[in-house]
Amino acid sequence: MSDTLTLPYTAREAKPPSKRIPVAVLGATGSVGQRFVQLLEAHPWFKLHEVVASERSAGKSYGEAADWRLDTVMPNDAAALPVKNLGADLDSLLVFSSLDSSVAGEAEDDYANRGCVVVSNSRNHRMDPDVPLLIPEINADHIAAIERQRKRRGGRGAIITNPNCSVVGLAMAIAPIERLYGIEQLHVTTMQAISGAGYAGVASYAILDNVIPYIGGGEEQKIESEPRKILGRWENDRFVDAPFRISAQVNRVPTIDGHLMTISLGVRNRNSINVDQVREAIDNFRGEPQNMRLPSAPKKPLHYVAGDDRPQPRLDRDREGGMSVSIGRLRPCAILDLRMVALVHNTIRGAAGAAILNAELLEAKGLLA
Ligand code: NAP
Repeated sequence: MSDTLTLPYTAREAKPPSKRIPVAVLGATGSVGQRFVQLLEAHPWFKLHEVVASERSAGKSYGEAADWRLDTVMPNDAAALPVKNLGADLDSLLVFSSLDSSVAGEAEDDYANRGCVVVSNSRNHRMDPDVPLLIPEINADHIAAIERQRKRRGGRGAIITNPNCSVVGLAMAIAPIERLYGIEQLHVTTMQAISGAGYAGVASYAILDNVIPYIGGGEEQKIESEPRKILGRWENDRFVDAPFRISAQVNRVPTIDGHLMTISLGVRNRNSINVDQVREAIDNFRGEPQNMRLPSAPKKPLHYVAGDDRPQPRLDRDREGGMSVSIGRLRPCAILDLRMVALVHNTIRGAAGAAILNAELLEAKGLLA
């Protein structure tokens, strides 16, 4: 077990705040919450100041309340923090949320209405008409929606969300193709790791030696709708979805971390398709986090991994500290136009790391002031 995770906190050209900004994590004891605690330990801009969970955990120290499951040691400073009950007053204006979706909707609204900037992983507000669903490499301009949200709330508070853990991998993998040719339709089959279900999510007796061809909580519907908002436009004070259609089939598989997916897609401009050009576009794909050199930004958001049997969860999920999406097996499709495999680390780029990158973008754009 190592003391810290190797993270991409290397490039520091974006102007850092004068001192580390205190932050709270809602749902800090859970699977994603623990990732927040781990990733924030050495974060150059943000400092973990408060942890919040259910009444089962409130009143205990974080060290007592959290059943720590990560392969780095629980940070000492975090272990000593008292766990606050959901709804408690917070000192921190920046609040990360990894709450169970049964309570996230109301709690996030409540903190945003009290003036906090809530950067959330939960599904509850992702599709709200004035809430950005951000992947900053793709749609950093969607943060303009915050202004409309602040008018509605009448203060500085706001909610910003990151997508479902599979959607992050899917949307990033197809973004260069959407830009080149325009996507018309796509089919995706996911093989999702068990950490995606939270610590208590899938019984070992159900998942070992097995694959479960169903994930509850509207997983397929999220994968079929969220990419269209992400790859759409913020125009005249509203989101306009990208027009393509998606069909998703999801499976829970017995890997710990890393959602793997196979994608087939058809494009509008099919006469121009060139597989080499797509590979080059994947390799050259960059966005605002790379331009601004945000601390958590991977140097390359997309890595094309050569080899007939790649990417694989165990071998490829930790690329660039788990912040890059790995792509492989790009080739023509026998029914649609192109097919490929993509892999995303579901609790880092698909959850806590994504939210931290979103918060860095907000800070760099002056929206946390
Ligand atoms: P989890 O392991 O079950 O953790 C849930 C957290 O919510 C725990 O801290 C828990 O606190 C808290 N909580 C539950 N009920 C509560 C209540 N009534 N009041 C206050 N706090 C309560 O779940 P997870 O996998 O980390 O997922 C958290 C959220 O992120 C979910 O909305 C999920 O959909 C989303 N998400 C997860 C992933 C992933 O890969 N896991 C990826 C993207 C998004 P206690 O420990 O005190 O019960």
